[in-house]
Parts: sequence; C-alpha cells; structure tokens
Amino acid sequence: MPGDDPEDIIAKVADLLEEGAADGAVLVEVRFGAAGLALMRPDFMALFREAERRVQGRYPRLRAEAIGYLGLVSDPARLPATERQLDACLRLARDGLGGVDFRVDPYDTEADPALWATAYRWAGRAGDAGLGITVHAGEFSTANLAAALRVPGVTRIGHAVYAAADARLLESLARSGATVECSLSCNVILGAAPSYEAHPIRQFVEAGIPATLNTDLPVHACTTIGREYAIAAALGFTPAELLAFTRNAIQASFTTPARRAALLAELRAWGGPAG
Ligand SMILES: [Zn+2]
Repeated sequence: MPGDDPEDIIAKVADLLEEGAADGAVLVEVRFGAAGLALMRPDFMALFREAERRVQGRYPRLRAEAIGYLGLVSDPARLPATERQLDACLRLARDGLGGVDFRVDPYDTEADPALWATAYRWAGRAGDAGLGITVHAGEFSTANLAAALRVPGVTRIGHAVYAAADARLLESLARSGATVECSLSCNVILGAAPSYEAHPIRQFVEAGIPATLNTDLPVHACTTIGREYAIAAALGFTPAELLAFTRNAIQASFTTPARRAALLAELRAWGGPAG
C-alpha cells in the first residue's frame, strides 16, 4: 500500500509543509490520523524530520511538528486498535512527536462518561510521555465541551464554537486557560458556524480566551493558512490582533521550549507587542 513507501510519506508531508511555508508560516503542525498508518512506523519521526529538512532548503525559517490523532469511538471492539495508536504515539514521543489530538464519540451528543474516563487515562499517559494534549469538542453542539475541559493536561481545544452559545461554558473555557484552535473556513463549510461574520472568534478574544487560526482540514475545506488570516482580516481583526493569533499559536504549540523561545523572539522582531 502507498503508505508503506517512506519516500511517499516524506513527499506528502513536504507538500503540506511547503504549502504552509509559501504562505509565510514559520511553524506548521501536522496531524496524523487514524487513516494513515504512518504513525505506526518506528521511523515515522525520522521521515517527518527529513520532510522538514527538505522544505527548509527553500524556507529556512520553517519549523514543523507532528501530532497524532486519537478518535475514541463508542464501539468497544475498536478501542484496542486506537490504544495501539496511543502506544505508537507514546513511543514516538521519545523521537519528538509533539502531542495528541483526542476526539470522543458521539461527537455532537454527550458521549459515554466511561469513554471519557478512558480518554482521561490515555491523556494522563500521553502527558507523562511529554506529549501536548488537545481535544476536539464543541464544534456542532455544546455536548462534551465540559468533559473535554476536564481532560488531564489539556491546553488546547479544537473548535469549541458552541462554547459561545452558553455563558457558563464560555466562562469555564476562559477560566481553563485553554487555547482555542479556530478553523474559520472549516467551521463555515461544515456548518458549525452559519457564516464567517457569525463565527464566535471575536467573542473568544473579548473573553480573554487565547485563540489561534488553523486550517484543520485544508484539503476538505480548500483553504490555506494564508487564507484563514485573510478571512480574519476581512472580519476586522487588526494587524496587531492577527499577530496575537500567531503569538497564541506559538505559545500553545506542541514544540520544544527552545523552538518556542526562538519563534517568540522572531515574532517580537516583526514588531509584535512584547510578551
Ligand atoms: Zn477539526
């Protein structure tokens, strides 16, 4: 199968990184999901770094990090396969995998607390291995947002669009300190938000919630990171606010402290506010 060819994996990753770098991205985080077997390879991070190195030939400022995606579905028969993916992520943490992205199903209605308990246990193991934790929740309903905020070690929530629909949820999101990964195009295209103007990203910013701009599913949503920043600019975010999204993204990134510090220093050099 094509996923077994190392050169194929390097080329695919390099394409993704190059697209981000061409848009001016200095840090690209790539999420590897269940469909790809790449994560199960012991040499996965070596292939990933080779792709990064190749793209750095043209874009020397680019850094890239990889994260694993773990979808916990309600069918218990499928959990062992997901746990093997978790085990692979834990092994890859030693080679520099940055983090894991959890999603617990059913996604749009409250999931079984027992499945969340499994997610909490797994997140604990991931955190112990040094992996960053992000959780997809609140994309199409308020369901599971409160449970997602209780994941041990969670520092980022993917989407959280519906947090804005409930004042108490918005407040607990703000109190959690978690960064919200906003994917404007994806949210509008998939119907999580009725329009760009109605997307709650401004409410997040006003509530003091660190927000970032992301592509989420760039191929499905036909978007690029440059387009996401252009949309935010069209929504009225000022250049300083756009820089703040980038600063939030660097601060919340699943990268090494040395890379984070270097990126923040670069950002200050561009004239961003200090801090
Ligand atoms: Zn998503």
